[in-house]
Amino acid sequence: MDPNAEHGVEPLDEDWSRLLAVVAHPDDLEYGAASAVARWTAAGKWVGYLVVTHGEAGMADTVPREAREIRRAEQVASAAVVGVRDVWFLDHPDGLVEYGPALRRDITRVVRRTAPDRLLTATERLTFGARQLNQPDHRAVALATLDAAKDAANRWIFPELAADEGLEPHAGVRAVLTMGSGAPTHGVDVTDWLDAGARSLRCHARYLASLGRPFDPAVFLRDMTAAGGLAMGVPHAVLLERFDTASV
Ligand SMILES: [Zn+2]
Repeated sequence: MDPNAEHGVEPLDEDWSRLLAVVAHPDDLEYGAASAVARWTAAGKWVGYLVVTHGEAGMADTVPREAREIRRAEQVASAAVVGVRDVWFLDHPDGLVEYGPALRRDITRVVRRTAPDRLLTATERLTFGARQLNQPDHRAVALATLDAAKDAANRWIFPELAADEGLEPHAGVRAVLTMGSGAPTHGVDVTDWLDAGARSLRCHARYLASLGRPFDPAVFLRDMTAAGGLAMGVPHAVLLERFDTASV
């Protein structure tokens, strides 16, 4: 029983042109959202990725200094598959990302630089979906990204960004979208984009091999988005929770 089905979701509006995705780890976007990214970039929208760590603690069989290079390269390759050429990495420590002003400032800096009208991140909730425990880096990055939508617009938050780096406020972020929420509000029909999504996820080949268990990206994405599709009334959908940023 899909708990989303009883709520139903609306198709996500597409009257925007620039989206910055902010995630904790290489691969966070490829477990579903990359199919939606493929759809958006094919429609001419700009999408950029900001990855807060290098995922260096994510490969049990590889020491962090080597893992970070592997995972960085895999992320850049997987982004290119779905039409994303702008990928930035911060250097927060994998597994130990701290929510706070430093992280908010690092994200705000890139929001001001890239002037998006949408942000995308993983859910800030304690769980992915209904029951699966979320990961602390995801929660920290999500909270800081939700905050950055407003921090970017406020001249008096992180004034050094304008004074020292010439990054003037950007008030154009109208909504933040989160992936993996147990209470999704919107969906993206990715029926025609599953293949691109699977190819993007396959780029994380060394990482996926390090997990030490069989994993088929195409099957995984097909099954996950089929569940999302039920809530939207299409064969395959990526579900998102949308937070609007209009001032109250
Ligand atoms: Zn992750």
